[in-house]
Amino acid sequence: MNIRLTVLAGDGIGPEVMHEGLRALERVAKIGGHRLELRNGLIGGAAIDATGEAFPGQTRALCEDSDAVLLGAVGGPKWSDPNASVRPEQGLLDLRSALDVYANLRPVATHPALYDASPLRPERLHNVDILVVRELTGGAYLGEKNRTADSAMDVCSYQRHEIERILRMAGELAGRRQARVTSVDKANVMETSRLWRSIADELFCAEFPQIELEHMFIDAATMHLLSRADSFDVIVTENMFGDILTDEASMLCGSMGMLPSASLNKDRRGLYEPIHGSAPDIAGRGIANPCGMILSVALMLRYSLGLEEEAKLLEDAVYAAVEAGHRTADIGLPDTPPVSTQAMGDAVIAELG
Ligand code: NAD
Repeated sequence: MNIRLTVLAGDGIGPEVMHEGLRALERVAKIGGHRLELRNGLIGGAAIDATGEAFPGQTRALCEDSDAVLLGAVGGPKWSDPNASVRPEQGLLDLRSALDVYANLRPVATHPALYDASPLRPERLHNVDILVVRELTGGAYLGEKNRTADSAMDVCSYQRHEIERILRMAGELAGRRQARVTSVDKANVMETSRLWRSIADELFCAEFPQIELEHMFIDAATMHLLSRADSFDVIVTENMFGDILTDEASMLCGSMGMLPSASLNKDRRGLYEPIHGSAPDIAGRGIANPCGMILSVALMLRYSLGLEEEAKLLEDAVYAAVEAGHRTADIGLPDTPPVSTQAMGDAVIAELG
């Protein structure tokens, strides 16, 4: 298979983890006999420095002409002036809207080898296998904004079609899993949530009668995620709730550095990135965990390219490397020196054989 990809390494640890993600991809592609065509583009702070824009037209053109896009991370203190006319994070929002990706899939599965890296007790971590489906085009992040010296607003709004398509995606995915969906909202106080909840009831009744649907308030969900994570199958929620809930969920897996994500459009063409940011506090030191990036490459193989076997190969290699004791500092073992980003990548590649 010929695979044409756009690679957006971005800022901070983005290029460091991307390097390992690409090395692992190259090995898997070789094993599967696939031909890779990789084109690099600028995004975020790196793009602002070079062009004055966070998502230059040239990058957009590359992304629109690809089977999938791989992204490291964007942002950092250099570009964080609140009064700056352009910020790196805008590049990410523009990229998502250029690809029309509306569903952000974030799998959260615990692995016994990483129980020791989680702040939770091991008995809370058994059999956790959750797929969070986060809406990506609406809500307060993308609504109308305004700020004066003494007031500010971010409008949270949702259209019926945006709610329907994300709920439908959750229903379809749940049908291939345990057939349970938890729809998370704040319907006791928010109108957007009340609309969301009524559409969920209608849509699941009409289209997914075999799926068990439950509703949960976001505040309760954050608590249940820590006390009974194994009871969830698919969680579907709006943009900001999903963003926050998955950072919390990452601690079940030991570290934010372990979690991948896939952002899909209606054609399943997608954007793949680890859930973490550019981690300026550790950037440039070669100590970032590349596993979230490598696992994002696996999601790309699965969802955009239909290469399930290769995806599984890569996921198994990551967990085999972790099990064998190769650990970056964020998932480090007591009394064992952590390995570097590159050594972690080497360990995964060695497991691929
Ligand atoms: P962050 O995710 O960058 O870092 C949070 C903490 O997790 C830090 O202590 C960091 O060292 C650690 N961490 C993150 N990834 C890690 C990894 N792979 N290995 C080891 N440790 C890791 O979040 P932040 O500090 O809130 O944000 C930093 C910058 O990243 C900001 O500019 C923010 O806007 C941006 N950001 C970008 C994205 C993205 O590109 N998708 C997402 C979130 C934040």
